[in-house]
Amino acid sequence: MDAIAEILIDWYDTHHRELPWRETRDPYAVWISEIILQQTRVAQGYDYYVRFLRTFPTVEALAAADEDRVLRLWQGLGYYSRARNLHAAARQIVAQGGFPTTYEGLLRLRGVGEYTAAAIGSFAYGIPLAVVDGNVYRVLSRLFAATEPIDTTSGKKLFAQMATQLLPGEASAHYNQAIMEFGALQCVPHSPRCDVCPLVGKCLALARGMVDELPVKSHRTKVTERWFHYFYVHNATHMYLHHRTANDIWRGLYELPLLETPGNLNDFKVPKDLNNLKDINSLTPAFRFCATRRHVLSHQVIHATLYEAEVQGELPPSPLYNTIRIDDLDDYALPRLVTLLLGDRE
Ligand code: SF4
Repeated sequence: MDAIAEILIDWYDTHHRELPWRETRDPYAVWISEIILQQTRVAQGYDYYVRFLRTFPTVEALAAADEDRVLRLWQGLGYYSRARNLHAAARQIVAQGGFPTTYEGLLRLRGVGEYTAAAIGSFAYGIPLAVVDGNVYRVLSRLFAATEPIDTTSGKKLFAQMATQLLPGEASAHYNQAIMEFGALQCVPHSPRCDVCPLVGKCLALARGMVDELPVKSHRTKVTERWFHYFYVHNATHMYLHHRTANDIWRGLYELPLLETPGNLNDFKVPKDLNNLKDINSLTPAFRFCATRRHVLSHQVIHATLYEAEVQGELPPSPLYNTIRIDDLDDYALPRLVTLLLGDRE
């Protein structure tokens, strides 16, 4: 085995965290953990993983669930397309009679890209595939002082080659876990503990004083700004809720009636200018300002404001919104932003 792989495995055996998805070779459990942990820290994803497997212990149970239930369970994790894809892929798996057992078969599942297919292939089936996540990019770029950007096609190819070359013939799953954990705990993005690093004599970035410059990214993600105005319209017992069905963030989740404006239109008249709230307009309730929040997603910054109007008497049926009991709100999957805004008003 290559000396670097051996050092990483030795380090892992002493330092790794005990995590439930590392104790299993069940492809379903490995898959759930990999999807939950994309863009999510272990500390945050842990409880979701446990809850998810308790609620849907098998791929059949997940496939049989309705999407609302899956999204409700996912609430707070963000990147809800992961949950929708997970659900769709579970149905794919059941329809084809079981979990795919090859890299190519795994890649055909909804929401499964090269990284996830390699992770399931390696951790569940022991297929000798290099698993390259953000942690691995960082470790490799520093070890080899590789300045090729990690977010370009050529960069990805180069790092995949490096990772494959380092992959030991035997114990490849063990090694993959080791290098990922090493990046997560030791060779961290800021102020890595180079003074206690077992690879200190082999790290070219350290030798060349380049640790803080690596890995290199070619461009920053373009961030869009959006302005959301939410309206909490309710009487003593009921409220309006909107189901997001458009192809946009939070598809499939529920929210308060929303007006999106192209800029920070503080002076729009609430609610007279709100065409999509005209059925609420007819109630002529007095909207009061409740809260404002700046909510940062990976590609969007949302400037949100919450207004509230309490209506006397019945809420008329709306063609746009569901009328639900306020006490039942917890049964619906809401974006975290909406939950936070509602919390702010109390
Ligand atoms: S010496 Fe520092 S930069 Fe190099 S692998 Fe170790 S922790 Fe990472």
